[in-house]
Amino acid sequence: MNEGPDLSEDEARWSLVWQLQQAGIRDKRVLDAIEATPRAAFLDGIFRARAYEDIALPISCGQTISQPSVVGLMTEALEVDNRCKVLEIGAGSGYQAGVLSHLARRVYTIERHRPLARQARAALASIGAANVTVVTGDGTSGLPEQAPFDRIIVTAAAEDPPAILLSQLREGGIMITPVGQSDTVQQIIKVVKTPHGLDYTELGDVRFVPLLEGIADDLADG
Ligand code: SAH
Repeated sequence: MNEGPDLSEDEARWSLVWQLQQAGIRDKRVLDAIEATPRAAFLDGIFRARAYEDIALPISCGQTISQPSVVGLMTEALEVDNRCKVLEIGAGSGYQAGVLSHLARRVYTIERHRPLARQARAALASIGAANVTVVTGDGTSGLPEQAPFDRIIVTAAAEDPPAILLSQLREGGIMITPVGQSDTVQQIIKVVKTPHGLDYTELGDVRFVPLLEGIADDLADG
């Protein structure tokens, strides 16, 4: 494949979709949403040049933008359609929310680092993602005023699927969350809330930054 700095933005996005197909992402709607979301808009400076490689990259506040194939896997498993109200915990750069904006009716995403929430808001506005709201706060409490949600995606790892979030999931709803200790390999878990209880499926190994309680103190990095 012809990769490198001479690819146009369109070609680079297409090549990312090709890589995700190789990685096993099949859902055409998810692949189209990823192709339609300029990942470069969610990255700073030197990292923009690597936006369409299938790798996690650093963002502000010591956090990371997820690897596109992980975004693809989690988004596919979330089974979002245009009637869905979706809650994301861990806005980070805003990229995952940007992908979801193409698939869902409404997206709420919570971030505990104020500078990141601000940057995510600006990046989402720059790509015209008008159905996304970025909330600064502690996602471990969810967003009770907007509950229940049809779908919940957690993009930071907790030791167990957070019970408060499950209580904010509509019956028939789906939650995707990495589970496991932050310094080890984690599992992506799919939880379906059925009338008879919760149904769990393991989707594969990943590595995410930890889900931490409380709003971060970011005075140092403004
Ligand atoms: N979805 C992001 C990547 C997530 S990185 C993207 O597309 O770029 C995980 C993010 O979760 C980090 O930004 C981290 O600050 C945030 N986070 C961790 N614990 C949190 C909590 N309790 N509430 C809200 N955000 C949290």
